[in-house]
Amino acid sequence: MKLPEIVPKFHDSNGPLAAKLLQSPSSFGLGTLPIASHPDSTTVSVCGYCSTGCGLRIHLKDGQAIGLTPANDYPVNIGMACAKGWEALAVLKSDERAATPLLRDDQGILHEIDWAVAGETFCNRFKELQSKYGPGSVAFISTGQIPTEEMAFLGCLAKFGMGMLHGDGNTRQCMATSVVAYKQSFGFDAPPFTYSDLEESDCLVFIGANPCIGHPILWQRVLANKNNAELIVVDPRRTETAMAASDHLAIAPKSDLVLLYGIAKELIEMGAVDNRFIANSTEGYEEFRDFVSRFPMNKVSIATGVSIEKLQRVVQKIANAKRASFWWTMGVNQSHQGVRTAQAIINLALMTGSIGRPGTGANSITGQCNAMGSRLYSNTTSMIGHYDFLRDEDRQKIATILEIPVSSIPNQNSYAYDQIISGIDSGEIRGLWIVATNTAHSWINSPRAKALLSKLDFLVVQDMYRTTDTAMLADLVLPAAGWGEKEGTFINSERRFGPLKKVAKAPGVALADFAIFRFLADVWGCGEMFVKWTHPEAVFQIMKRITEGQPCDITGIRDYKMLDECGGIQWPWTASDQKLQGIPQRERRLFEDGRFFHTNGKAKFLFEEPKSIPEGICDTYPYLLLTGRGTVSQWHTETRTSKSPVLRTLYPKLPYVEIHPNDAEDLGIMAGDQVHVRSRRGTATVKAVITASLRRGNVFMPMHDAQTNRLTLEHVDPMSRQPAYKDCAVQILR
Ligand code: SF4
Repeated sequence: MKLPEIVPKFHDSNGPLAAKLLQSPSSFGLGTLPIASHPDSTTVSVCGYCSTGCGLRIHLKDGQAIGLTPANDYPVNIGMACAKGWEALAVLKSDERAATPLLRDDQGILHEIDWAVAGETFCNRFKELQSKYGPGSVAFISTGQIPTEEMAFLGCLAKFGMGMLHGDGNTRQCMATSVVAYKQSFGFDAPPFTYSDLEESDCLVFIGANPCIGHPILWQRVLANKNNAELIVVDPRRTETAMAASDHLAIAPKSDLVLLYGIAKELIEMGAVDNRFIANSTEGYEEFRDFVSRFPMNKVSIATGVSIEKLQRVVQKIANAKRASFWWTMGVNQSHQGVRTAQAIINLALMTGSIGRPGTGANSITGQCNAMGSRLYSNTTSMIGHYDFLRDEDRQKIATILEIPVSSIPNQNSYAYDQIISGIDSGEIRGLWIVATNTAHSWINSPRAKALLSKLDFLVVQDMYRTTDTAMLADLVLPAAGWGEKEGTFINSERRFGPLKKVAKAPGVALADFAIFRFLADVWGCGEMFVKWTHPEAVFQIMKRITEGQPCDITGIRDYKMLDECGGIQWPWTASDQKLQGIPQRERRLFEDGRFFHTNGKAKFLFEEPKSIPEGICDTYPYLLLTGRGTVSQWHTETRTSKSPVLRTLYPKLPYVEIHPNDAEDLGIMAGDQVHVRSRRGTATVKAVITASLRRGNVFMPMHDAQTNRLTLEHVDPMSRQPAYKDCAVQILR
């Protein structure tokens, strides 16, 4: 591989580390180009946006990507891709890319520096803080956007090598609720489904999910369902998915828990339960049955605002189903009682025996391309491999596999994201390393988040763009390669490991995150600890050993080549599976034997009294603000999607708020008027869109514009600590 021209200058002036980088790029995980066996060939790489994990066929000339088409033989997308996938290469070519390290001077100006200065500054500043305020004074924020091997490296380097005690990831913002719900109910964070369940179900219930926009290729799989399936959508808004539903329950925001308990009560009274499954595979049913008896339909109707007749029609359809499946995303996860809501969905699947069979399941659709990788390997909330930092035997197992002293593994849990933010406020956290996420834009109540990031003694942002709201606040910017410029694996919503390929060169001296971690490990002085972490596939082999005996065991996956040959492989795939079966089936689901991961093999019914949202409407703030995805062509904070001219033409140019026509009339607001949306935290100035897709009294803003989180209320689910973005009180001013 030919390195970027700037590196020889770095080599001349910066000693042995730079020399090593120049002489042996692969030792820093840079990999080699071309990736394809023939330089003018094609290779399949998994998309780097959402958790659907579509396979994209990358077309190469001289080893470099010149275009892509959806892979028609990849089991996830079968020849389809959404606009983001089609434009995945375009966003790499932007003049906003971070191409060289940047350091802020005393006047607040960012200057280009070389990697040696960047590495020394990173280590010196963080070490100074740790020696003055303790190792826990420096923390890190990881991401669901980088390959599994990189997030494993980041988590292990930060915690085991650099002695940081606290690290979390942006997956806290999307998946923490599902993780906790599954863990408590099933005994492990285990989404049970496979995508063919979307096609094989005869009754699909989507709760707080809009796959038509959020997971468009999964929506295509729904449309491929040949069972004339019932499609029930539970959502306060008449979303694109709700418009296609056979039944749309437009419930009052956050009345979902009452609704789900009420449905359970009705199903029990109708006798539409699987008593054999309940007896053999679950525990806590009697208590649950007694509990939900307090949710009669008239009470549910009042709480949800949906008529009893409509509620009963939906219950009857679930009762009639042979293969009912229940799907949820952020409308559930980002709630003040999200874990219990997710578990109320799980309870419905358990009581009807709708799990472990084709077309069934309690199925949480993941958000980011590698949120599942983060859940298992990021070494943040749980220890790498989904072990427990508090258990001596778990720490010893990881220390043995990694060949590191057990004393280097913290015997305490990390702070969650919100606790790290609050730790900055209290002065406990003084330095922060943010990798591939945009906290200043995406964190709830962003005015506070921004103010606190600015308060840090030292903020490092590692990103592929230098212009994110967060990078603009950084003291040190480390330029990173993006999707398509490095190797590794992503794990999608259905637990499928898929390969990420290097098909393009990163700009300037930007490095793969993997290479940055290797480099920083050496500069920090803990490189010896990671001597075997030479390149992503070497880390993949370490990850395999770590999973041995875990529910997510992947010891049967030989190597990256096998992932290519099989169209990705779902976990688990054990060495004995491989020995007995040879080739993994293309689609596999969990719990076919009715055995769960708790020691007694049973799943648990878990429930709790519903609670009111913390910030209800009042005379001063009479509207409830809902947030969510805007269009298929926008991704989160638009760090990448805004760089594609094609995608930009596919979504509204100006930020907007959706208002019900009657509310607009009361307020004297016309379509297109500029309005101020004000909460107790801040104000957004946006365009009014008048639409009857909302209930009266609700307004909606997409999450993509930075103004939206100026308004949101900082509150979290108490168990998952996932922020509840979906509800806060606002006023609308002309
Ligand atoms: Fe990529 Fe998701 Fe679109 Fe598939 S659906 S192409 S994974 S963004």
